[in-house]
Amino acid sequence: MTKQAKANMPSLDNYWMPFTANRQFKKSPRLLVSAEGMHYTADDGRQVLDGTAGLWCVNAGHGRRQITSAVERQLATLDFAPSFQMGHPVAFEFAERLAAIAPGGPEAKLDRVFYTGSGSESVDTALKIAIAYQRAIGQGTRTRVIGRERGYHGVGFGGISVGGLVNNRRVFPLLPGADHMRHTHDPARNAFSRGLPEHGADLADDLERMVALHGAETIAAVIVEPVAGSTGVLVPPKGYLERLRDIATRHGILLIFDEVITGFGRLGTPFATDYFGVIPDLVTTAKGLTNGAIPMGAVFAKRDVYDALMTGPEAAIELFHGYTYSGHPAAAAAGLATLDIYESEGLLTRGADLAQEWEDAIFTLKDAPNVIDIRTIGLVAGIELSSRPGAVGARAYDVFVDAFKKGLLIRVTGDVIALSPPLIIEREQIGEIVSVLGDAIKRAE
Ligand code: PMP
Repeated sequence: MTKQAKANMPSLDNYWMPFTANRQFKKSPRLLVSAEGMHYTADDGRQVLDGTAGLWCVNAGHGRRQITSAVERQLATLDFAPSFQMGHPVAFEFAERLAAIAPGGPEAKLDRVFYTGSGSESVDTALKIAIAYQRAIGQGTRTRVIGRERGYHGVGFGGISVGGLVNNRRVFPLLPGADHMRHTHDPARNAFSRGLPEHGADLADDLERMVALHGAETIAAVIVEPVAGSTGVLVPPKGYLERLRDIATRHGILLIFDEVITGFGRLGTPFATDYFGVIPDLVTTAKGLTNGAIPMGAVFAKRDVYDALMTGPEAAIELFHGYTYSGHPAAAAAGLATLDIYESEGLLTRGADLAQEWEDAIFTLKDAPNVIDIRTIGLVAGIELSSRPGAVGARAYDVFVDAFKKGLLIRVTGDVIALSPPLIIEREQIGEIVSVLGDAIKRAE
């Protein structure tokens, strides 16, 4: 760090950092001070290649002037408008543009858009819409929501209830009745599969077991990440999502895809829904929606779901739910500019052009020390390392720290290294990621 930078350094005492070992971090902080394209600049002036699109969100790369100037113009024109009983044109325009690329394409009709402020809010919103929908169609006993082990659906009470991470759950009271299917990760049978794993479609039958155990008439919805991201990049087995769709439909259970990570081009299609050709009833998004520039989320609802809630007297509020910042003008403007970039640069499908090269490059790490599985799909990768005895996560954390020193930002979760670079990545940069990472993995041996 330069002398000047050190002098300008704020105290680290006051900011209570999220999902961070605060005391450890504050002893050796890692600070990012600016970003452009594929790179961050750290506080010591080093360029750091962004292997994670920030936190799975900066899909169009950093510092996009089109977005910043749209936000600036919008804030100068209309900084805020009440989101309840009032509207502003930009929120409607953004929803109309989103409807045109909505998950599953026009026939799927997931073109009703409810704005939120984050992925967690999108999840809780979707769960509430599902329960309210069931009640609206005369199925008021359906209040139970089903998630999956190793699912991550944010940190609202709804999200941690359907989520499957014990650390996020154990301290808190949870939604009554929430239950879980098993996760689909099966390294014994599927390690190093390229493409979708062969084994495990039958795990979708866990939803049948939930029905047998609880009764379909108690279940409102089932929520899954089409590809689980934060818990280690778990790619669904061939046929799994189709089977889940079929079981949910047969039992009147709404299917929610949590596409907070997979939405907006991550898999090489606009949404995972398009990749798999499986159409859910609700889709949650955030992150790439505004390229991470302004916090915003959106839930895409099937028209039938929306219509069912639009019955009743005209003047009545249909859903007692919403946020001060739903459809915030700056966020909607950022979203519109983001969509313009995605569309003009073909970014929502660019991952499909690069996916094979990405997979081949990542799989060159197969023989690196302690690598026990590699999973890739679209422009995502999970590289799993064996854990040191009694120290789960320690090896991957060493790789993370070392890679950062050498100018590469990765994410680690347990002993899985997760990669999800901005979709503007150039071919040479894929090589750079693999080379820096390969060396860091060797050093962590
Ligand atoms: N759902 C999924 C699938 C996610 O990956 C995340 C965040 N990583 C969330 C929900 C929560 O989003 P947020 O952190 O914006 O609340």
